[in-house]
Amino acid sequence: MSSTTFDDAVTRLKRIGDAIQCSQQVLNTLSHAQAMMHVNVEVRMDDGHVQYFPGYRCQHNNVLGPTKGGIRFHPEVDSEEVQALALWMTLKCAVVDIPFGGAKGGVSVDPKTLSPFELERLSRAYVRSMADLIGPERDIPAPDVYTNALIMGWMMDEYEKITRVKNPGVITGKPLALGGSIGRDDATGRGAYLCIKELEKRDNLDPQQTTVAVQGFGNGGYHVARLLANDGYKVVAVSDSKGAIYRQEGLNVDSVYQQKQEHKELKAVYCEGSVCESQDYDTLSNEELLHCDVDILIPAALGGVITADNAEQVKARYIVEIANGPVTSDADSILKQQGVIVIPDILANAGGVTVSYFEWVQNRCGYQWSRERVEQELEQVMRRAFARANEQVQRQELDFRDAVYAVALKRLSDGIEAHGTPD
Ligand code: GLU
Repeated sequence: MSSTTFDDAVTRLKRIGDAIQCSQQVLNTLSHAQAMMHVNVEVRMDDGHVQYFPGYRCQHNNVLGPTKGGIRFHPEVDSEEVQALALWMTLKCAVVDIPFGGAKGGVSVDPKTLSPFELERLSRAYVRSMADLIGPERDIPAPDVYTNALIMGWMMDEYEKITRVKNPGVITGKPLALGGSIGRDDATGRGAYLCIKELEKRDNLDPQQTTVAVQGFGNGGYHVARLLANDGYKVVAVSDSKGAIYRQEGLNVDSVYQQKQEHKELKAVYCEGSVCESQDYDTLSNEELLHCDVDILIPAALGGVITADNAEQVKARYIVEIANGPVTSDADSILKQQGVIVIPDILANAGGVTVSYFEWVQNRCGYQWSRERVEQELEQVMRRAFARANEQVQRQELDFRDAVYAVALKRLSDGIEAHGTPD
């Protein structure tokens, strides 16, 4: 069972909505997902037996456009988690002002226990179960935890087989050869990095004097660590599911990455190596990493890692949420009292869905943008979203999370009201 719940996501939404006097009708609408599909994904395993995996797709709200959001393969995926993640996608797309609603999908499975063929059959079977619900103008999946471009390619191929039409815009985060976008791979980390660059300007941070700890060394965590280290930030700790490493003077992010990759089996979909492979550093647990005495803490792994039980131990001045929902709603007030500035997930990790939007636009025009164009446009979107939230921080004296929610709720209110009253 996941520690991320829809109830907790709604509790936070209502608390912030009430504080900024958002209409009760809007809050009520957003407290209910529009659709939730639960299937049992049937997969023939390599030894011939058939196994069933619970699969989900939640379309939370489509007022601002077709619904959009990733598909997660993880043992803790459940209906509660998928609904919470879908609500956050609705808010996230509104924050960065892209014409999408919010959705999320997932399969409750430990994908690392599957062979590559089993994983492919699972991915294709999931799409067969969901084929009537998705589509480039209806609901557009993408990668999330433990899914990647390879899996998106299989999924798109299966969808095209079913519909007998070439339609790459049905899924984003695809391999480049199948219509993926340049720059989608590091977009989530880059989006978070751009938020930190805005904080740097706003609060006069000196990169050389600013220490960073990153929990999670996947797509988001690795790229943000890499980009920050390139700018001179002192990345002192990183971790993955096997543990954390620490060095007060800063780690060599590239060599940690290289050493982790060396332990990847040639045909394996997932990297079995760990950051702990790097011998030159002290080791910590993932929990200890959260309590490191650093300036910026970046939780970039799973949800629910900072709760009312451990929030007091956080020493960082900033938390930049790359994971979805790493802080539970009951920890918000504790962090606020401690003066921690939280750049919430629905802004900090929005770079991923923003470049997914660029990919969908490119697919619809049959055209490929250059890396320069993708990076420039992403920078514009992130800067604009950060500036709008920061304006609310200054003008309404809101904390950063509340300000970002205020930006999203304003856009969604305009959309919901413009749609008129339901029958
Ligand atoms: N899974 C990512 C997220 O949580 C990306 C979603 C997308 O690209 O649609 O934002």
